[in-house]
Formats: sequence, C-alpha cells, structure tokens
Amino acid sequence: MTEYPALQLLIDGESFDGTNREIIDVIDPATGEVIAQLPSATNSDLAKALEATERGFRLWRSKSADEREAILRKGAQLIRERAKEIGVAITREQGKPIKEAVGETLYCAMLLEFYAGECKRLYGRTLVRNSGQRVVVRYEPVGPVAGFAAWNFPALNVVRKIGGPLAAGCSVIVKPSEETPAGGLAIVRAMHDAGVPGNALQCVFGVPSDISEQLLASPIIRKVTFTGSTKVGKHLAKLAAEDLKRTTLELGGHGPVLVFNNADVDKAIDTMAGNKYRNAGQVCVSPTRFLVQEDIFERFLDGFVNRAKQIKIGNGLESQTEMGPMSNQRGLDGIQEKVSDALSKGAKLNFGGNRVGNRGFFHDPTVLSQVPLDSVIMNDEPFGPVALINPMPDYNSMIEEANRLPYGLAAYAWTEDPKQRMQLSNDIEVGMIAINGGSVSASDAPFGGIKWSGYGLEDGAEGVSACLISKTIHETA
Ligand code: NAD
Repeated sequence: MTEYPALQLLIDGESFDGTNREIIDVIDPATGEVIAQLPSATNSDLAKALEATERGFRLWRSKSADEREAILRKGAQLIRERAKEIGVAITREQGKPIKEAVGETLYCAMLLEFYAGECKRLYGRTLVRNSGQRVVVRYEPVGPVAGFAAWNFPALNVVRKIGGPLAAGCSVIVKPSEETPAGGLAIVRAMHDAGVPGNALQCVFGVPSDISEQLLASPIIRKVTFTGSTKVGKHLAKLAAEDLKRTTLELGGHGPVLVFNNADVDKAIDTMAGNKYRNAGQVCVSPTRFLVQEDIFERFLDGFVNRAKQIKIGNGLESQTEMGPMSNQRGLDGIQEKVSDALSKGAKLNFGGNRVGNRGFFHDPTVLSQVPLDSVIMNDEPFGPVALINPMPDYNSMIEEANRLPYGLAAYAWTEDPKQRMQLSNDIEVGMIAINGGSVSASDAPFGGIKWSGYGLEDGAEGVSACLISKTIHETA
C-alpha cells in the first residue's frame, strides 16, 4: 500500500504541520478508522495567507499568457504521472472504487489542459468608432479567489476551484474538505511543482465556517467559489454580498430522468443504473427521480432492480469493487432516515434499503418505486445510492414533475423521437441535459445549475470568464 501523503497547510510557499495547531482526524469510510491527522489553520495562518494572496495575485497576473499556459499544462502532466497514487489517497479517504478515483484524477488533468489553452483565448474587443476615437473592451482577472471544495470529488472539486481562476490570472486560497484532504493537497502540490508560485496558490484546512468567515470578511478576496449544500451556499452568498464579491455556487440537485415509451429501454437501464450507483450516489448530477412512462414502467423497474442486484460492494481499494461505502456517517444516517420516511409514507421497496455490515459506512444499492411526492427523499437531494422510480402517464406530467423542485442542475431523457428531444430541451428547467446518454460534463462544456442549484459556471470558457472583469477604455486621439 502506498504511504498516506503528509497532510499540511500550504501557505506563502511554506508547509506547516500540526505543531501548536488543532488537529482534525481523517477517517477511512471503509473501516471507520482514523487514518491520518490534519492540521487546522489558526487565525494568524489565515491572516498570513490573505497577505500572501495579494502578493501572489500581482505576481501571477503579471506572467504572460504563454507562461501561465505552460505551467498549467505541466501541472496536468504531473497529475497524470501521479494519477495512481492520487487515486489511492482519494479511495482511502472518500471510499469510491479505485477505478473511479483514478478516472477522477485523469479528468482533473484534462480540465487543466483545457484551461491552459484558455489562457491564450481571453480576447477583448474593439468597438466600431470614427477615426480619432478608439474604444477597447479588455478582460482582467477579478482578483484573489477563496475556493471551498466538497468531499465527494476530493481532487476534481479542487481543480474546479483553482483551474478557472489560475487561467484568468487570479491567485487562490483553496480549502478542500477536511474529510478528504489528501486528494486536493496532491493537486495543489502538483501545481506548485509545475511552477505556480506558493503565494498564488495556497491550501488551508480548519473549521469550515470559521475559515470562510475570516477569508470573506477580508476586502482582499474578490471572488468566492463553493461546492456543497444549498444551505451553506446561501450562507456564503450572504457573506459575499456584504462586500459585493463575485460568487460561483455549485450546490447539487435532484436529477430527473425522463424515460419515454419510445426509448431504448435496455440501454437506458444499463447507462442510468451505472450512473446512479457511481460514487455511491454522492454526485451532484446523480440521476435521482426516474419518471417512466406507464406502459414501459414494469419492464424498466425489473431491469433496473436486476442491474442493482449485480453491483459488487466492497472496499474501493479492491479491484472488483463497483460501489464503495458512503463517505461519512452523516451521509449513511441521512439515507437511512430518508428511506424509512419514504416507506412509512407508502413507497415500495424493490431492492436494498439497508446498511451493509457494521464496519465503515456501507449502504446497499437501493430501489424504491411508487414514491409519494410528500416523502422527504422526493424533495431533498438523497446524495446516496437510492433510485426513485415512479410511473408517469404522459409527456406533460413528466415535464411538470421534472420542474417541480427548486433545484435545476442536471436532467436526463431517453427518447428516440427527435421532436420530443427538441421539445424537452426547451421545457426542462436545468443547467445541463443529457439525452440518450449518461454524461453532462466535459472539460470544454459549462458545468453548473440554476435556481437552488446555484449560479456561476465552472469548466468550459465560462469557467474562466467567471473569474474575469471587463474594463472599457474610451480613447480619443
Ligand atoms: P455541506 O454543504 O455542509 O459541506 C460541503 C462542503 O462544504 C464540505 O467540504 C465542508 O467542509 C464545506 N463547508 C461546510 N460549511 C462551510 C462554510 N460555512 N464555509 C465554507 N465551507 C463550508 O454539506 P454536507 O454536510 O457535506 O452534505 C450535505 C448535503 O450537501 C449532501 O447530502 C448533498 O445534498 C449536498 N452536497 C452537495 C455537493 C455537490 O456536489 N454540490 C457536495 C457535497 C454535499
């Protein structure tokens, strides 16, 4: 087994361990055991990071686009070279199967490569004027960024917090999740090794609410970017509003999946079941509410249950494992509460529904059907391995149910009818839709939601423009 990486604070080019600092235990979700200890930043650590990020911003923005591009590309290359060891750290602290963890790491490299190219595509424009006058619109980095990443993608969430800002010329203080620190730290270290100055990219840990309060209270920070729950997102939006800081919030959803009677049902089952139980359902774009047209409902349900039964649960480090544990005790407790609430309100349990073993945080892949709309799980993001499958009479009822909740992140639709595909692309209120497929994310495509799923975008050109301000220069000869 590779050694668990040293967990340190990375501030102004120096690393700090737990000496004279509070310590946070890191737990392996497959065993429930403490595997490492993480130092917590003090107020003076954070004050130092704030002062350094201001210098880091001036230094990093002054680098040419070519230099920034080369450094981001080098970072991507180092991450690729280290993918196996980063993947092991992700699996140990977060639980997902090693194949998914390595895949996540390689996706980080791809995203950084895309952002590297964007460094040279931050075009401005010249407006049409008579001779003797010139009006130029120019884009500049917004300033130092504070990024807060969630635990479900320990490395990718961190890359989403730092990639766009670094490409735009911003400095970043990032706080990966204290529950999954090693993956994010490995990303930051790779970027330092590639040439990002230690004051332009810093990494801190501690009590999340204390850190965000101190960083957001400072006028030095000009942008906040967060991945996590709607509740915390709203709290951070209020803190950011005090100083009118730019904000990007990626807050999860409650993904509807519309399966019409003309769909390729077998393909829909195979794709969406794999997608549902990926990362034990702890994915913001996870397919959740399956809205299946009545005449194919039984066939879809039976096929989905069969597929769920085949999933091999185990420690993510074992190569045959297809679904690891949930990442933390509160996630496991939350799923158990939501499943029993749904059952008490009349939902049918078609498969699963139980914790697996008594060590670690395992829960079996679960299928509920005929789930009443007033059950908690039909309204709050389950964030666990539970599929909710309900029969629906027609197109209009399916669209109405898809749009019923205040969330609007990802939706999925399965239909062979081109007209229906066009119509539903207009009618579903979300940031991203996959039609006849399972993926809503690509390095060059904007990723983000609407309504309670947040605002601002990551990935794609939009991930960089979210970190730019425009300056217009009106010049007379
Ligand atoms: P949470 O919002 O409390 O925590 C998510 C992340 O935000 C954690 O890494 C945490 O360290 C950080 N955080 C929490 N409070 C913060 C604060 N005041 N300032 C800065 N950072 C802060 O969510 P949770 O308890 O981990 O999970 C609860 C629910 O949130 C989940 O069930 C799921 O619905 C949602 N969630 C969504 C995503 C996503 O990908 N959008 C990720 C994690 C959780």
